[in-house]
Amino acid sequence: MSLFGEVPQATPVAVFKLSNDFKEDANPKKVNLGVGAYRTDEGQPWVLPVVKKVEKIIVADNSLNHEYLAILGLPEFRSSASKIALGEDSPAIQENRVGAVQCLGGTGALKMGAEFLRRWYNGNDNTKTPVYVSAPTWENHNAVFANAGFEDIRPYKYWDAEKRGLDLDGFLGDLESAPKHSIFVLHACAHNPTGTDPTHVEWMQVAEVMKRRKLFVFFDSAYQGFASGCLDKDAWAVRYFVTQGFEMFCAQSFSKNFGLYNERVGNLTIVARDSDNLKRVLSQMEKIVRVTWSNPPSQGARLVAITLNTPELFAEWKDNVKSMADRVLLMRASLQAKLQALETPGTWDHITQQIGMFSFTGLNPKQVEYMIKERSIYLMASGRINMCGLTTKNIDYVAESIHETVV
Ligand code: PMP
Repeated sequence: MSLFGEVPQATPVAVFKLSNDFKEDANPKKVNLGVGAYRTDEGQPWVLPVVKKVEKIIVADNSLNHEYLAILGLPEFRSSASKIALGEDSPAIQENRVGAVQCLGGTGALKMGAEFLRRWYNGNDNTKTPVYVSAPTWENHNAVFANAGFEDIRPYKYWDAEKRGLDLDGFLGDLESAPKHSIFVLHACAHNPTGTDPTHVEWMQVAEVMKRRKLFVFFDSAYQGFASGCLDKDAWAVRYFVTQGFEMFCAQSFSKNFGLYNERVGNLTIVARDSDNLKRVLSQMEKIVRVTWSNPPSQGARLVAITLNTPELFAEWKDNVKSMADRVLLMRASLQAKLQALETPGTWDHITQQIGMFSFTGLNPKQVEYMIKERSIYLMASGRINMCGLTTKNIDYVAESIHETVV
């Protein structure tokens, strides 16, 4: 009898199972619209040209070595990453009340933030503090906060399925009724999975309620640059909240906008009331990192730091990001046009109204099953599709398949 004989089989992570099923599908027409990774028009992963260039710079630099980084990470990475979130001339940065923790991807940044909040937020044991995540959200939000010891994770209203847009009244209502000091996870831009963000005016309404009701703002910024093609535009909400005086966290991922998925590059930006508070927060962050991964890896952080801190490379990166965002916009426009030309029942304006990597098609689980089984087009059960999985070669097949599924 094995010591592991009682271990139950865990259910696979949906999005990775989908990729495996896709791999095993022999249909030459198969399309993977599941996993959230950028693909070129040839359906291939893309190493950003600027990343290739910086990789060569790193190899040629004989002053670099593989010594441990500091527990909190590479200082020039942490500061430049916070700067692109908060803005070059952010008063909070100038006031020395912004700090950061280099983390393993955006997931690591959420994890560090969650672990810290459970231990230290508002001076309490926070296992009972409610954490609100949008309905729907990236499924890992629930698990990361639960795993950090939060016992009360609740959905807040976000998506109005009928109008295929934001349920602002529901969202504001849930903010109004949340217990004081509750934690709210907000998607900074390009909401996953709905592709629907509040407008500036709507964000202002959200901020007003959050401030009045003393709710904690935890931004998740996994797609900066991907939504509009412009870093500053995509950081609008984060920067607005800083101007409103919030103490807050922002988990940044460089997986998508640098195409560094497997290098695990993330940053937790902390905006504190003043430098003294910041210093104590960072000292506790150091303790949590020490027992989690001890010190972060260097390659991805170096790539990002060199790029962000070198004006020509920074400009080149912004171009690279824009070209990814533009391809997504092109695919959105053509999918919508093709569905309209086919006179597929329903309205398809949401495909171009939604932004970022994903589109929430409105296909129901039965239709999704049909797409997978009958057409070898792989998408999440929620109806979410990764727009980057579409190419000029497969888009006709996808549009025809959606048509066939819906009629
Ligand atoms: N937050 C959201 C909303 C995401 O979509 C993702 C990636 N799918 C992450 C965080 C995590 O990013 P990373 O892969 O860098 O951990």
